[in-house]
Amino acid sequence: MITTKTLILAEDSRTRYTNEKTCLAERSTGDLPSSGKQTMRILIAEDSGPSRLALERVLVKWGYEVVSCLDGFAAWEQLQLPDAPRLAILDWMMPGHSGPEICRMLRAKGGEPYIYLLLLTSKTLKEDLIAGMEAGADDYVTKPFDLHELNVRIRAGMRILDLQAELMEAREKLREQATKDALTGLWNRRSIMEILEREQARSQREGAPIGVLMLDLDHFKLVNDRFGHLAGDEVLREAGRRLLASVRPYDGVGRFGGEEFLVVLPGCDEAGLYSRAENMRMSIAGPPVENVSGGIVVTASFGATVFMPQSVISASELIRVADEALYEAKRAGRNRVVLRSSLMETLS
Ligand SMILES: [Mg+2]
Repeated sequence: MITTKTLILAEDSRTRYTNEKTCLAERSTGDLPSSGKQTMRILIAEDSGPSRLALERVLVKWGYEVVSCLDGFAAWEQLQLPDAPRLAILDWMMPGHSGPEICRMLRAKGGEPYIYLLLLTSKTLKEDLIAGMEAGADDYVTKPFDLHELNVRIRAGMRILDLQAELMEAREKLREQATKDALTGLWNRRSIMEILEREQARSQREGAPIGVLMLDLDHFKLVNDRFGHLAGDEVLREAGRRLLASVRPYDGVGRFGGEEFLVVLPGCDEAGLYSRAENMRMSIAGPPVENVSGGIVVTASFGATVFMPQSVISASELIRVADEALYEAKRAGRNRVVLRSSLMETLS
């Protein structure tokens, strides 16, 4: 357990001791870095007092928040934390783990976000520097350090970290685009099918049924014809919102295509599924969807079926059963739920 206590080190800075005496954090209460971004935290691991103090002072002066460690064990512990500093300056030789050892362990562990590692060394032998870089360090600073050089190397590290953050953000956006339906924000067809398949595998492991609903907005073509496609889009979005509002966080709701939606309800048996579907049906048929030309009354027909854990029916066969039930609901006059057993499929 890490204990924290606060004390005043100097007038313009605050020091926080963590992990008993081996690690402390120092933060400038003065200017933030010129980029205006959130204060960047830098970890220093250095057993030599004068060198550590000099580093702390200059980093705080430059606007960084400093987490200071007196040995390699404390540094390793800090770097394991979920909110670990993203840049670390590690002394080559120190008690506990050495700088290169920490580099090696951290790189072997992998994971994200990336931590930029600077080795601090009085070694000037080329082979040693190469060994340090091979251990996974990104760069090095030699002692006694030149302030200008240190500043430049830290900023180079920050640029790499910024780029990496941008990449992660772009990747997250791509992932979102690849898995979500752009109009409604629900899962797209491929994702909701994957969710259904994953839930089937879980159901077979854990022995709980899955409720599956296929629903289709009634007379949706008329909405588009009468009110235009923008109104049609708003009806689809609102139907998605009403569906989402009536499920649990671990249920899956996807746009299957056009005005068709697929809902996956883990742990839901026939009796439960019917009442859940009724709730959703009433929610969609609730207040008219607001539109410039007035309210649009929307209803949906539901085809429901339950996947049983002992069943061997595939996801697409399950969809077909739900689809047939949906067709029956349409034929019987729409705005209703029809439940159909998938058991016959299993036996046939
Ligand atoms: Mg040392």
